[in-house]
Amino acid sequence: MGKTTGFLEFDRKVESYAPVEERVKNYKEFTQPMDKKDLKEQGARCMDCGIPFCHSGCPLGNLIPDFNDAVYLGKWEKASEILHSTNNFPEFTGRLCPAPCEEACVLGINEDPVSIENIEKNIVETAFKKGWITSRPPVSRTGKKVAVVGSGPSGLATAQQLNRAGHEVTVFERDEKPGGLLRYGIPDFKMEKHIIDRRLEILKEEGIVFKCGVHVGKDIKAEELKEAFDAIVLTGGATVRRNLPIEGSDLKGVVQAMDFLSQNNRRVDGIKQLGEEIKATDKHVIVIGGGDTGSDCIGTSIRHGALSVSNFEIMPMATKERPKDQPWPFWPMRLRTSSSHKEGAERFFSISTKKFIGDNNGNLKGLLTTEVEWIKVPGQRPQLKEVEGTEKEWKCDLALLALGFTGSETTIADQLGLEMDARSNIKASEENYQTNVPGVFAAGDQRRGQSLIVWAISEGRQAAHHVDKYLMGESYLPLKGEGDLPRI
Ligand SMILES: Cc1cc2nc3c(=O)[nH]c(=O)nc-3n(C[C@H](O)[C@H](O)[C@H](O)COP(=O)(O)OP(=O)(O)OC[C@H]3O[C@@H](n4cnc5c(N)ncnc54)[C@H](O)[C@@H]3O)c2cc1C
Ligand code: SF4
Repeated sequence: MGKTTGFLEFDRKVESYAPVEERVKNYKEFTQPMDKKDLKEQGARCMDCGIPFCHSGCPLGNLIPDFNDAVYLGKWEKASEILHSTNNFPEFTGRLCPAPCEEACVLGINEDPVSIENIEKNIVETAFKKGWITSRPPVSRTGKKVAVVGSGPSGLATAQQLNRAGHEVTVFERDEKPGGLLRYGIPDFKMEKHIIDRRLEILKEEGIVFKCGVHVGKDIKAEELKEAFDAIVLTGGATVRRNLPIEGSDLKGVVQAMDFLSQNNRRVDGIKQLGEEIKATDKHVIVIGGGDTGSDCIGTSIRHGALSVSNFEIMPMATKERPKDQPWPFWPMRLRTSSSHKEGAERFFSISTKKFIGDNNGNLKGLLTTEVEWIKVPGQRPQLKEVEGTEKEWKCDLALLALGFTGSETTIADQLGLEMDARSNIKASEENYQTNVPGVFAAGDQRRGQSLIVWAISEGRQAAHHVDKYLMGESYLPLKGEGDLPRI
């Protein structure tokens, strides 16, 4: 370890943002880069703990103190090798991860944690700039063919790992371009899409074949795929959206967040044929749902030029501090304020929408809400109770439903006879990621339910190991936290 007193000498620093009035004029990323001196000091804050709890906080088991130290020592290429040994796509997680590693960082017990995510992003961006990230096709091929269905972060990680093991990998994607929610969910202002394209070029050079515009289960039957390939990995995400089945939900102006976000991402990509336009321009917008998707709807509505943007959350407002019953190093449910929240949205908590109100032409013109409280019942889940006399009408001509996802689609599962789990995901054990049908595997949101990019990559890597083992009898692909140092 390079500097033993770094955490005493330097305060935490992270990237700052361009001012709101500038950044909302376009869909570009708006973080302001940190200089190398600052990054070196941030790397020096790491205490190289005997038991680095950051490892256990990270679903990938990233070797965090090792790359922190390399950054402190100015060994950026080494840092990139260490980082890529456990994470195929640090440029995604370095921008978008909520950083459970930082919540688990030992320094975070009584100081601000090490700025691990910023360091990660700067390592991978330096590596791309310097040309250190190049394609590394396998030296030999096994002759085995694997189909990966879905090209989100999980499918891409699965594909890259299996290709590295020498298998011939074809990724099937029903959208027009690969990337999953990275491309058609998450807005460009959080991650510009050339970041995905840059990585895809490498995957293609390594030999992975992408077949876009192919909906498995419709354009090609899952049974045909099973015949043609030695193994199939299902990484189709948790795409079934949660509805709000209340009066007026069929009014024009009540829109699913994913329809709004995916259309906007396609618009930003220059696509003209978008179907019926969904825009927030000159509208009073209410976003129902306080998670990542809701936050992305806020930032997008503000960039459209909405008259007002409100955000409803049915849960009570969390505290900014870590709650006492969620001690370090666990992930705490605390109040998170995203860059989009700061762009001009008003947030309301403990509020439930009872009814959408329409005009005579079937257009949404308002919402009826009530305040709610959560009653704790010993041994049971908290129960929701309306607070009497708190009904309120809101002016609203665009309501965006950002209520999450209820699980995986079932077409492929039906065609292959796959079992689903109790939460409507494809059932595949964490032990080997294999479904009840031999040779058919599942990973990412389609297996674990709606989750995070870092988990999607982690699941993809784990599943790839087990697919390789299924095909070859043994696997040298690393499991979580094992790293893979010789090949980046
Ligand atoms: C709006 C939004 C914002 C988010 N923001 C963040 C964030 O900031 N940070 C974070 O960590 N996580 C975020 N998430 C969650 C994260 O995006 C997901 O957990 C992650 O993308 C899951 O990856 P995946 O590869 O499992 O599935 P997905 O990314 O959902 O990809 C699945 C792919 O499979 C394709 N597919 C499905 N069925 C078929 C089929 N039958 N044939 C062919 N193709 C098929 C789909 O078209 C899709 O491209 C966000 C989610 C949303 C919706
Ligand atoms: S827990 Fe924090 S201080 Fe300790 S090794 Fe990990 S990043 Fe460094």
